[in-house]
Amino acid sequence: MKGEYDVIVVGAGPGGSLAAKTAAENKLDVLLIEKRQEIGDPVRCAEGVGKLGLMEFVDPDPMWISAEVNSARIFSPDGTMIELSEKMAGNEVGYVLERKIFDRALAKMAARAGAEVQVKTQATGLIIEDGQVCGITGKQRGENFTAKAKVVVAADGVESRIGRWAGINTTLKLKDIETCAQFLMTDIDIAPTSCDFYLNSKYAPGGYVWVFPKGNREANVGMGMLASQYSGKHPIQYLKDFIEWRFPEGKILETVVGAVPVSGMLPKLSTGGLVLVGDAGHVSDPITGGGIINAMSSGRIAGDVIARCILDDDVSAKSLSSYDAEVRIELGKSLDKNYKIKEVITKVSDNTINVAAHSLKGVNFENVTVPRLVKEIVTRNPTLLKELVGLI
Ligand code: FAD
Repeated sequence: MKGEYDVIVVGAGPGGSLAAKTAAENKLDVLLIEKRQEIGDPVRCAEGVGKLGLMEFVDPDPMWISAEVNSARIFSPDGTMIELSEKMAGNEVGYVLERKIFDRALAKMAARAGAEVQVKTQATGLIIEDGQVCGITGKQRGENFTAKAKVVVAADGVESRIGRWAGINTTLKLKDIETCAQFLMTDIDIAPTSCDFYLNSKYAPGGYVWVFPKGNREANVGMGMLASQYSGKHPIQYLKDFIEWRFPEGKILETVVGAVPVSGMLPKLSTGGLVLVGDAGHVSDPITGGGIINAMSSGRIAGDVIARCILDDDVSAKSLSSYDAEVRIELGKSLDKNYKIKEVITKVSDNTINVAAHSLKGVNFENVTVPRLVKEIVTRNPTLLKELVGLI
């Protein structure tokens, strides 16, 4: 490892690898570090992505796709099913990835573009001079090191500490954290081409249970609940209760716990010499918690903006704030809108979900927006207007 780079990217998830790849393609001298010894492992993700979203960044490789899905089925608490086509649920369904391979493939793309990649290498602090971030302190296999950089990219995920080290307020309210538990299960009866979502406060208060197929009788079965709804029962226990009801014969191959920010993006994504991408910048979707594509999107924007700023020899807070502006243009509108929707739907009762699901039977969902869907429900059930009015 050298003592100086143009860019140091901390974290080799989808956000960090895209930032490193893009910066390297812009002929910058890039270091990508990852604290774990294997990129992509362990997986803390249900691995679902939309096809079009993914194809905006990479050509899908069958090596890292474990299932192709063409519909999403939503089950209300009383078991009423609504089926959405891929076109309607396109952001959430399409592929179920194999992230152990996918994340590594993205890091490989960064390396092939010219980035240096170092695993088992952890950032432990920032070097800040005259209020400007200009490098990191770190640990590699027990040895301390320092490395300077014109810009540091914080792509260190939901538990990011780098923004805070630089004085950016990254605190999440409990109501804006989705805490999750997931089992990789085998030997279960699933719909192999559908991503299934269960809305039921018994199994996922303020959230949902997902069953994302991974091929032959195998699936990621997980649940996410708002941390604000925690009442002493652990997410793993909620999930076990769901499994006992739905897949009592299934076998568990892997257990995962994790969290996703569902706050909408941070008001400030950069400062002098530093930008935050992906979950570190809270750009994951507030309704679904999906964050892979948005992490890649913010990573790519970061790589391009940093290259321009370095070319102009200006990596000040003002100059790098064009990163915030570009991410806001790309993602801000949908994150803001989905945050508002989340604030309403996480409070909707099981009974209302049942009533709404019954009234949606037979509706053609092609090209239906959420407000139009809600209008349809309210027209058929005027008593629900008060509870759902925030969605229109
Ligand atoms: P990460 O993928 O979290 O990568 C951050 C990396 O930084 C990690 O590899 C970490 O080891 C490394 N790191 C952290 N600190 C340091 C440090 N100090 N030094 C060096 N390295 C460091 N999203 C979807 O789109 N679809 C889904 O189906 C989906 N399901 C999910 C299910 C669960 C249970 C959870 C928890 C999340 C899910 N998400 C899903 C969200 C998705 O996983 C994240 O939004 C996405 O991984 C964010 O990418 P990232 O690059 O920002 O961060």
